[in-house]
Parts: sequence; C-alpha cells; structure tokens
Amino acid sequence: MITDVVIAGGGPNGLMLACELSLAGVRPVVLERLPEPSREAKANGLLGQVVTMLDRRGLHERLSGSPEPPRPNSAYFMFGAMGLDLSLLEDSPVHALPVPQRRIVQVLHERAVELGVEIRRGHEVVGLSQDDDLVTVDVASPGGAYQLRARYLVGADGAHSATRKLSGIGFPGVTYDRMTVRSAHATVPADWVDPATGALDVPGHGAVLPFLPHRTERGGFSYAPMPGHPPLVSTTEWDQAETAAPMSLDELRESIRRVLGVDVPLGPPDGEGPHVLRRLTGGNTRVAERFSDRRVFLIGDAAHVYAATGGGPGLNLGLQDAVNLGWKLATVLRGGAPPALLDSYETERRRAADRMVVNARAQAALIAPGDDVTGLRELFTELLRDRSTVQRLAGLVAGADVRYDMGGPEAHPLVGRFAPDMELDTPAGPVRLAELTRTARPLLLDLTEEASLTQELTLRGDHVDTVTARPRASAPTALLLRPDCYVAWASASPRPDAAEMEELRAALRRWFGLI
Ligand SMILES: Cc1cc2nc3c(=O)[nH]c(=O)nc-3n(C[C@H](O)[C@H](O)[C@H](O)COP(=O)(O)OP(=O)(O)OC[C@H]3O[C@@H](n4cnc5c(N)ncnc54)[C@H](O)[C@@H]3O)c2cc1C
Repeated sequence: MITDVVIAGGGPNGLMLACELSLAGVRPVVLERLPEPSREAKANGLLGQVVTMLDRRGLHERLSGSPEPPRPNSAYFMFGAMGLDLSLLEDSPVHALPVPQRRIVQVLHERAVELGVEIRRGHEVVGLSQDDDLVTVDVASPGGAYQLRARYLVGADGAHSATRKLSGIGFPGVTYDRMTVRSAHATVPADWVDPATGALDVPGHGAVLPFLPHRTERGGFSYAPMPGHPPLVSTTEWDQAETAAPMSLDELRESIRRVLGVDVPLGPPDGEGPHVLRRLTGGNTRVAERFSDRRVFLIGDAAHVYAATGGGPGLNLGLQDAVNLGWKLATVLRGGAPPALLDSYETERRRAADRMVVNARAQAALIAPGDDVTGLRELFTELLRDRSTVQRLAGLVAGADVRYDMGGPEAHPLVGRFAPDMELDTPAGPVRLAELTRTARPLLLDLTEEASLTQELTLRGDHVDTVTARPRASAPTALLLRPDCYVAWASASPRPDAAEMEELRAALRRWFGLI
C-alpha cells in the first residue's frame, strides 16, 4: 500500500500540514514519536502574519475563543528591547494571539482528526531511502518496526529533525553560547502593577512596560502578564558560569537583582500548571542548506530555528511553511501541475526564513551588552521616531515584508503579497475575504461592477472557486488567490483588458495547471 504523504512529527507544523493536505483531498499519515502530547512549555503565543493566516482557515476563532476577526496591535510593540510606536502606522501588520503552544497543538490535533487524518502516536521515523517514485520510511513503533512507502515524506520533526539528518541536509548558522535566558511564571507584588498601563513599577528602578523587554548595561528583563495565566518573568544575561543545579525562583530573583540592580520579590505562580521554570543557555539561529531532497521536504523547526532573542518567529514561519507546501503537494499529487511546482516551496519559504535571520540577528545585537551597543541603541531610538522605519521593522517582525515572485509582471502592488482581508457583499450576503478561503481552494474574486471577469473566462474543471462580489471599501477589481492566500494575479481596471486576461490565464496555468 502506498501513502501519498507521510509526515514525520505531530507538532504544530506537522499537524497544520496534515490539515492543509486533508482540505485539499489528500489523506496523509502523521507519525509522532511521543505516545502522549508534550507538556513542555514552549511558545506563549503566535506573532505576525500567521494570526491572520489562521483566520483564513477558521482556526483563529477556535484559538481566541471569539468570533471577532483578528485586530492588529496598534499601540506599541518591540524590536531589540526598544519600543515600536505602532500608532504611527495607518495599517499595522503586527498581530499577536496569546495562546500557549500546548493549546495550539491541541486545536490543530482536533482539527486534523475532524478532517480524518490518521495520526500514529508512539511511531518514530528511524530511517528513509528513496528512488525516483517513492520514499520508503522505516518506523519504530510499540508494535514493532515496519516500513511505509509514500510518494512524499515531509519532515516536521523539529530542530533535531531525523528527516533532515537522514537526508544529509546540513544545518548551518550561529550558536549564541554566551547567553543565558531564565524564565518563570511567578507572582509579583500586586501593588507594583499599574492598573492603567499594566506596567510593573519597580521601586528604585522605575516602570517596566508589559511585554517590552528592558535592557540595562548588565542584561535584559521582561515582564509579560499573559491573559489567564500568571505573569512570565524573564532575564537575559551573558557569560554566566555553567551550572547543573535545577532552576529555581530564587535563581531568577538573583538574576533580576544583577540586571536591574534592585530586588523584585517573586512568589510561586497561582493557578493550574504546568508552569514555566527554566534556564536556557545558548541558542541557535540556523537555516537548512536545502528545504528538500527530491521527494523529502522539511518544514518548521526542521528547516529553521531562531535563538530566543529573535522575537519568537518560529510558529509564524513554520505554520506558513505548512500552508505553502500543503496545496502544492496536493496539486502535484492530483496531476494538476508538474512536480516543478514544488520548487517554489523552497524559493518562497527560504526568503521568509532568511528575513527572520536578519530579524533575529539584529535583535540579538541590539540587546547585547557593551557601550558600543548602547550608542547603537541611541541612534536606533532616533530612527524609530520615523514612521517609515517603524513600518519597515513592523513588517519584519510580523513576517509581512516578503513578496513572492509570481512569475508574471507585478503590475498590481498586491501581486506576490498575502491578500489583505476585506469586507464584501456577495449575492449570498456580506462576507469577509477570510471566510471565503476556509476551504483552502484557489479563489478567483471578481469585484468588477458587472462581473465582467467571470463572463469572459471559462474555467476547466472545478478546481478554482469563483466568487463575484462588491467590496465595501476601495479594493482591486479582481484577484486570483492561491490557497495560501497569496495574490497570484490582480487587476485595478474596471474591466480587465485582453493583456490582463492573458496574464490571468498564465497565472491559472502556472499555479493550478488550468486552461
Ligand atoms: C522555550 C521555547 C519558547 C518558544 N517560544 C516561542 C514563541 O514565543 N513563539 C514562537 O513562534 N515560537 C516559539 N518557540 C519555537 C516554537 O516552539 C517552535 O518553532 C515550534 O515548536 C516548531 O514546531 P514544529 O512542529 O516544527 O516542531 P516541534 O514542535 O519540535 O514538533 C516536532 C514533533 O516531531 C516529533 N518527532 C521528532 N522526531 C521524530 C521522529 N523521528 N519521528 C516522529 N516524530 C518525531 C516530536 O516529538 C515533536 O512532537 C519556542 C521554543 C522554545 C523551546
């Protein structure tokens, strides 16, 4: 029996890919080494464009517990422990969704099961080989060793990816071995918290704004009051003596004293755990040499990792890797496009991963100790008064500054970009663009006054959803969206002319093998 796609790893990115493949009609098998979900506390939330991406699949509502669409941060954010004044921007690209990673995995697991995905827990990928047509995956399981044969194998098996190593793909990058990050959920004196701003008013030091890491000459300190959880308190220090002692709240308190120069009494966290209490020494920022080897692909941490100072881009990138690869694999498996379509996975996602390397390294440099860094920060603080600098850095941290090459003329500014959400009136009633993309199918949106686009175009088969609608605000007159919601073609003409129609046909052929 031959499986279309085997996914190594049932973490967030493997599960997201499984959902995307299922939506596209492919039934993957997920192999997850752990017999039970991990209780390890990792991400505290999602940051960046991925928040709006999840809305495009109806998952934002499940994660936020609210039917409200995602709203961007329009107050402030941070870059290298400096404030980004987002109120300067007309349209902030920075979205944040404070949901612990365990919950994200749980929601994706539930969704994958709903979609009929087969998830084999306690099954570990231990070997692989491939020929021109198939990948053979060696699996160790409680019931004994077995082999699976698949058209494609995707390694979503994390930073230490067996898939990457077994494929002989290198993982070059930088290790920050001088850095120690200590974090804990803890209580702080209640009367130190400013009810108006949420800031922690530290006697003898001053106000520390919530979620905005604070740098001193001796290290970094941050205070993050996560909704529904005890605050997460963290420090970053350099050149600390190594220790094998278990981490404790007293150790964090000592570290805060060194960093801020004053004492911050910490109490054990309230509420149900598991709670964070960790010391991380070192960190890696690495990107795989290649994101694929013939029939084997890498997504998420298997393809790229970022040190803790990088602003938490892991899930933003990884979940969007999954969304990028899912529809392409499904299209090729269905025979809708030649395997060369899969080459665009690496081209597009490497660009996004490399931008995050710039983000991570720049932020690490800006929080490092030293007088030179202090001078650099003074200059940066001046630059951050300019709207265009804030816009650029907001786009960088949100991962919203990547434009894919769509292969044709970039006549419209939206081509190659993630489509913005928009409110539309359709014959069936009002709808947001995000709600039209829940099926993960290609979408041709005809917003011309007389639905002229759909009158002129005859599509073969039913692989593209066509929707005619009127926008509530100014918008392009027509858009072709790939299932990952990137704009493959767009027009601003009231009635797209012959040349534009030819570009549209070329885009349909290129991405979906149609016409
Ligand atoms: C302390 C910490 C804090 C973080 N904070 C943030 C944050 O705030 N924001 C953010 O976006 N990111 C954060 N990250 C990064 C984020 O957790 C990762 O980017 C994310 O977990 C990557 O997901 P993944 O599915 O690619 O890999 P993983 O989550 O590592 O999942 C891989 C899965 O594969 C399984 N597996 C491994 N080997 C095999 C095998 N051979 N066969 C079968 N299964 C296998 C593993 O058991 C695991 O379940 C943090 C990470 C850490 C460690």
